[in-house]
Amino acid sequence: MRIVLMGPPGAGKGTQAVGLAAALGVPHISTGDIFRSNVSGGTKLGQLAKTFMDAGEYVPDTVTNDMVRDRISQQDALEGFVLDGYPRTVAQVIELDNMLATQGHLVDSVIELEVDKKAVVERLLQRAAEQNRMDDSKEVLEHRLGVYAEQTAPLITAYQARGLLRSINGMGSVDQVKQRLLAAVGL
Ligand code: ADP
Repeated sequence: MRIVLMGPPGAGKGTQAVGLAAALGVPHISTGDIFRSNVSGGTKLGQLAKTFMDAGEYVPDTVTNDMVRDRISQQDALEGFVLDGYPRTVAQVIELDNMLATQGHLVDSVIELEVDKKAVVERLLQRAAEQNRMDDSKEVLEHRLGVYAEQTAPLITAYQARGLLRSINGMGSVDQVKQRLLAAVGL
């Protein structure tokens, strides 16, 4: 199972992706997590990514694509994965298709978490306070939502046109959403 989980910032993708990956027995691959661990590890990649992340911008595709190509070629991901935070641009969609094609694979399913915009903003501001994330401050957050609407939301329509999209109601408790997700992948 090669699954892409989509949704705006604050939709609860990260939390749900972990649960879904565990239920499917495949790795959870989060580009945001990989970037953040590089930032805290002080790597070159982290230093580069940090400027973009703190400003609420996407890290350039060239950097992100190489990172994902490398990760999904690792042994544990060969049988499947739950991708969280990638693809986020039309160019990344094409890259992901190319990466999988070299393995003889395709994206099996794209799941969109649909959430109420107001609730999302509240969640993110709360997380900013709790985790001290620079990219969740009010101004940066507004910018991130704009970038999402402009660059990432169109991917939903594109995947829908390919017949890969399933939209799930992302409102409710973590467990409720999890049940809906599991049902969507036939578990
Ligand atoms: P959230 O789930 O809150 O939207 P993530 O943790 O997925 O945020 O990502 C945090 C930041 O990492 C993004 O705002 C962006 O700067 C960078 N990032 C993550 N994934 C990608 C990607 N696929 N392409 C470009 N930048 C990315």
